[in-house]
Amino acid sequence: MSQMSNGLEELQDAFKQLRLSEVSLELPVLMREAEQQSWTYYELLNHLLKYELTKRDEKNKARRLKWAKFPYQKTLDDYDLSEQNSLTERQMRQLKEMNWLEQQYNLILLGPPGVGKTHLAVGVGLEAIEQGYQVMFLPMGELTTILKTSDYLRRSQIALNRIKKSDLVIIDDLMYMAMDPSEANQFFQLVDYLYERSSIILTSNKSPDQWGELLGDEGVATAILDRLLHRVELIQMNDESYRMKHRQRVFD
Ligand code: ADP
Ligand code: MG
Repeated sequence: MSQMSNGLEELQDAFKQLRLSEVSLELPVLMREAEQQSWTYYELLNHLLKYELTKRDEKNKARRLKWAKFPYQKTLDDYDLSEQNSLTERQMRQLKEMNWLEQQYNLILLGPPGVGKTHLAVGVGLEAIEQGYQVMFLPMGELTTILKTSDYLRRSQIALNRIKKSDLVIIDDLMYMAMDPSEANQFFQLVDYLYERSSIILTSNKSPDQWGELLGDEGVATAILDRLLHRVELIQMNDESYRMKHRQRVFD
């Protein structure tokens, strides 16, 4: 018996050295199951390898979810299509299929406050993570701060590197206030870097033709819009505010 458990420990050690640490940890359980279920050699190998792969996938997804920094987790399935008139079922399916992301299309969600822009952006982001992509969610104010401080703040440098490595960058509430020339220029640098490398989702309550003046410098504004709008799907959400419609009431 002790002979056998020594053997098991040796095996666990070997798996660990081969960087199969998940199997290594779970080996006693897996071996017991193998005996109880009389797994064939093939089944045993299959179970061990699949176990390692599945665990790695799970951890990888959890890591990407943490990095994405969503403000909350609301899925596309939580998004009620019957509550709005902007998005058809077919469009929702296409959103979920992520072909647009594969082709580095951008997505712009426009509309007044409360219509579900952020919810939809988060939902798409969660779905992208589910499908293996790297995603980053940034309120515009936070992005501006990161860009402004990335030269001397290590935290911002790391964040900027993550943004640049992401398949999908979500910028929430773009242009809620005017940018000064250096902010606009830094924003341009980022958009230029991401152009045809990643997809960007922008939410805004101002339409692109109003963005120009908020970006200050007309040349920079044109250059940014050029890249953002080159391959883009625009979703105009003009419904009544979901928040207002479903607000909790004290008076009746
Ligand atoms: P916006 O970003 O456009 O201001 P939000 O995405 O923050 O709006 O939406 C406001 C609230 O209403 C959120 O709690 C969101 O989950 C909810 N909501 C909006 N539209 C829908 C919808 N079609 N189905 C379910 N919940 C919705
Ligand atoms: Mg919002």
